[in-house]
Amino acid sequence: MYYPPVGVRVVVSLGNKELVGIVRGKHIGALREGVVLKNIISQLDETPVVTERQLQLWQWIADYYMCPIGDTMAAALPKKIGDKGYSFSPVKKRRVSLPNYTGEIEPIHTLDTQQERAFEHIHSCWHKNDVVLLHGVTSSGKTEVYMHLIEEQLAAGKQVLYLVPEIALTTQLTDRLQHVFGDKVIVYHSRVSDALRAEIYRQQLQPQPRLIVGARSAVFLPFENLGLVIVDEEHEPSYKQQEPAPRYHARSVAIMLAHNSGSKVLLGTATPSVESYYNAQNGKYGLVTMTERFAGLELPKITLIDLRQQYHRKEMCGHFSDSLIQRIREELARKKQIILFQNRRGYAPMMTCTDCGTSPRCTNCDVPMTLHMHNHRLVCHYCGYSIPMPTQCPSCGGSMTINGFGTERLEEEVSELFPEARVLRMDLDTTSEKSAHQKIINAFAQHEVDILIGTQMVSKGLHFDDVSLVAILNADNHFNQPDFRCYERAFQLLEQVSGRAGRKGEQGEVIIQTYDTTNHIFEDLNNHDYLSFYNSQIAERQAFNYSPFSRMITLVLRHRNEQRVIAAANMLQNLLNKVFGSRCSVVIEPSIARLQNWFIRTIQLRIETTSNYARAKQMLQEQIDFVLTLPDCKNVQIIPNVDPL
Ligand code: ADP
Ligand code: ZN
Repeated sequence: MYYPPVGVRVVVSLGNKELVGIVRGKHIGALREGVVLKNIISQLDETPVVTERQLQLWQWIADYYMCPIGDTMAAALPKKIGDKGYSFSPVKKRRVSLPNYTGEIEPIHTLDTQQERAFEHIHSCWHKNDVVLLHGVTSSGKTEVYMHLIEEQLAAGKQVLYLVPEIALTTQLTDRLQHVFGDKVIVYHSRVSDALRAEIYRQQLQPQPRLIVGARSAVFLPFENLGLVIVDEEHEPSYKQQEPAPRYHARSVAIMLAHNSGSKVLLGTATPSVESYYNAQNGKYGLVTMTERFAGLELPKITLIDLRQQYHRKEMCGHFSDSLIQRIREELARKKQIILFQNRRGYAPMMTCTDCGTSPRCTNCDVPMTLHMHNHRLVCHYCGYSIPMPTQCPSCGGSMTINGFGTERLEEEVSELFPEARVLRMDLDTTSEKSAHQKIINAFAQHEVDILIGTQMVSKGLHFDDVSLVAILNADNHFNQPDFRCYERAFQLLEQVSGRAGRKGEQGEVIIQTYDTTNHIFEDLNNHDYLSFYNSQIAERQAFNYSPFSRMITLVLRHRNEQRVIAAANMLQNLLNKVFGSRCSVVIEPSIARLQNWFIRTIQLRIETTSNYARAKQMLQEQIDFVLTLPDCKNVQIIPNVDPL
């Protein structure tokens, strides 16, 4: 009897459909009762397209994140490879060729003293710890250190995986890498065409030295000769996939991938996640620090503006305090550039009736709708549903006011306050077209624009030489959220945005407008004192038994019928309570309890770090499986989110 080798694609019949599958192993006899083994109709590849190491990693992901391995495979394989049509047999002409870099190759920069010391220190840490955290302030030259480490690996014939949180924002980075490493650099992410993704995948089955720069899904590629994984901006929440399964954290998967391949990991950031820093402090990771910016550049000066006082004294114009306006004028006069940060897109987050207090809400979701002025509509940011901007209250006929402000409104105020300034806005609405994002960054980098207004998109590791002032129009949004990580997020975001200010020989300035100048986070920001910030956070996490002192699994229950989802949640909570006791929360009605007409309830489990996580998940899965057999709970979706962010 012939058995196809592990890792080749085969066509099998399932019902009346033919599907492509991957051979995982040889199995004789029934898998379990009622499961019929399918006949293989044909074998698509002569040699494996999935390596044993990949299968091992995917199994780990499926187990750890509590999802079927099929979901992991679907996420892992480029579309084309999942197809029957794509041939892996040698072909005379490649369908697509990989990026053929024809630009100039420049020598790599020489490291300065601090960078050289960090480079050596990373190596010495790797003797003891496979994972090293590089905590270097913004513009300390972390990327330069990465490049020297990459050079070493490539010279030794090894591959390097360089993970970045959002690939759209990385052309500055990929340019820099290509100038040094030429066509060894391969960029892999979801915006790359299917054909090219498949080709990259195919080439990765060969062990040539290569630098893969990719977003989180690059962890699924085959790596035959991996020497190093770099996770840049390791604190970024976008490394965690939210929807669909597998809901994996690319940092965790990257560490596992490296572990399986016997390679090293470098996590880099100016603002480490509390979890990673905790691991570094406890000796689980090595820790390397760079405290100075490159070439004696100073960290920016932070100025707080008390909005309460400013409004009281009527020293405001729109959402700008008089002192901020004054500073912007001065910088414009000096031909400097300015970044204005407001982490909300649209004109205003809601409209409210002055008589009855009603804010129009989405018909499909439990959220108020955001005002967009360019088309005069109220839009739901969760499902896209929209209605024309109401001229009077839909429920009582009263008059409507506009509450709060987003980037669109800022842009309007800026053009009134500084009519001579050239302004661009960077948010989801202005970057939906393919290269729009790049155009905005280029225009700003070439100083064709004086003021850049943007959401968190502007906080990412971009370098603009002429930016002397960064203003955060309302810092308080970030602290008023029902999430134990909101301070961490706020600190990271504000410190990263601040990092955009300043250039050689001139200290930049960050102006923060807030209603609460006494918030202790500002002191840490002002001193750029990560450690002080970390210490306050870790104490709080410990006091309330949050991560990293416990592990969390959120169960999300969804159904179109609210009664159904409530009943199922109560049922499951009851069972879990018996098994897990106080580790299990009550049924929680989330702040957005309905999305796209799905009603939502959640249950949280907190498992102490000393107990067996895998076993806890097994016990949890048993209860979920049981609940799903109950007639009342039929068709209710129960989604485990392991280590939620
Ligand atoms: P980080 O990644 O820590 O934010 P970068 O590596 O991007 O910092 O460095 C900030 C800026 O300083 C970049 O423009 C980079 O080219 C420059 N730079 C840093 N180190 C060196 C060096 N050793 N030689 C020349 N330029 C450097
Ligand atoms: Zn909606």
